[in-house]
Amino acid sequence: MASGDKLKVINPIVELDGDEMTRIMWAMVKDRLLLPFLDLNLKYYDLHIKHRDQTDDNVTIEAAKAVLKHGVGVKCATITANKDRIKEYGLKQEWKSPNATIRGILDGTVFRAPILIKNISPANRNWKKPIHIGRHAYGDVYSNKEIRVSVPGKAEVVFTPDDGSQPLRQTIQNFKGPGIVQGIHNTDASIRSFAKACFTYGYDQKVDVWFSAKDTISKTYDATFMNIFYEEYEKNWKSKFEEADLKYFYTLIDDVVARIVKTEGGLLWACKNYDGDVMSDMLASAYGSLALMTSALVSPQGCFMYEAAHGTVQRHYYKHLKGEKTSTNPMAIIFAWTGCLKKRGEMDGMPEVSNFAQNLETAAIETIESGIMTGDLSAIAATDEALKPVYMDDFIDAIKDRIKQSVINT
Ligand code: NAP
Ligand code: MG
Repeated sequence: MASGDKLKVINPIVELDGDEMTRIMWAMVKDRLLLPFLDLNLKYYDLHIKHRDQTDDNVTIEAAKAVLKHGVGVKCATITANKDRIKEYGLKQEWKSPNATIRGILDGTVFRAPILIKNISPANRNWKKPIHIGRHAYGDVYSNKEIRVSVPGKAEVVFTPDDGSQPLRQTIQNFKGPGIVQGIHNTDASIRSFAKACFTYGYDQKVDVWFSAKDTISKTYDATFMNIFYEEYEKNWKSKFEEADLKYFYTLIDDVVARIVKTEGGLLWACKNYDGDVMSDMLASAYGSLALMTSALVSPQGCFMYEAAHGTVQRHYYKHLKGEKTSTNPMAIIFAWTGCLKKRGEMDGMPEVSNFAQNLETAAIETIESGIMTGDLSAIAATDEALKPVYMDDFIDAIKDRIKQSVINT
């Protein structure tokens, strides 16, 4: 590509704008790192909390449908409304989390992976490659029903078939005094699409797939997860995996926790909903920073939505509103865009788009490796002398200088 020419990305990318500091970073990344080099066909949806409120949250639903239609989307972090936010923004109501709405419509699985940088060492020195996490984003304790029991009595689980046949029931506990009861569920269809998404992702990324549950204790619930994964693998993936020299491995969740610290990484850990919630935060912190964690929502129909794993970085935003410069890290946002550009390039047979995205990732990583980085990283970087953090806009400009260089050289 000659300098001065923009690379045309023909097919649409669905852009979901968001809130607070990530909205500020979003505009800066677009204006300085993408639009000078790319002619993008963007389908823009504004998920700013005020706009969600004005549209009675229809904008979120429309945006999710657009991702399904066009196949590729990129999302900025958004505020999940709560009582404080209702007051702060004068909202009509506590709207549902946009991520939950979008996940529901895409029926997706969330995959997360850390960005590895030479001078930011993982807390575990064995880890040389990323550990990807695939979190089942449906059911279990996230859609539970709970009862606080205050007097003696019998707690049961009852299933009543629609066809009028005999109900199934089991006694959970005969309470002698106060206690707690919880009911959770999952569906074969959701578990199967989770398994399918994990094998698709593992095969795509060329990494082994590990799945963990606790079937020794939960002989029906967790064993169903284990069996569905096994069936899906045997039926649809075994020969592909063997040809690609990839492995599928099932073991108990506690066994994976113990083993994973001894590996060098380079695998996908498929987790049940709660395990994925907890373990992805542990991995993000162990690999360095939430701002180095990428996240992709993959639907069973093969639609992809990329985002940063962190939130809207509220504390930095309030500083920004006071006119102070902040040292907020845009890496995960940059990688959300590069992830979606690579996927667009791959789907459309446009390797030059994927190459641009790869060059941008390399430029961003090399900028940090040259010692120019934001405060979250300078505090943990491996150097002989203390590093001075740079402001967010100076960091983005340093990346831009590098990407310009690589555009001129290609
Ligand atoms: P957060 O935005 O992830 O920030 C938590 C803290 O992590 C920040 O205060 C900051 O620490 C550090 N941090 C996160 N990202 C950073 C970055 N890019 N650069 C530098 N430091 C970074 O979480 P939160 O403050 O709990 O949540 C704020 C809002 O985000 C909430 O309204 C929540 O609903 C929303 N949220 C959205 C998503 C999403 O859309 N995907 C996900 C999670 C939360 P220091 O302040 O110590 O510098
Ligand atoms: Mg969590």
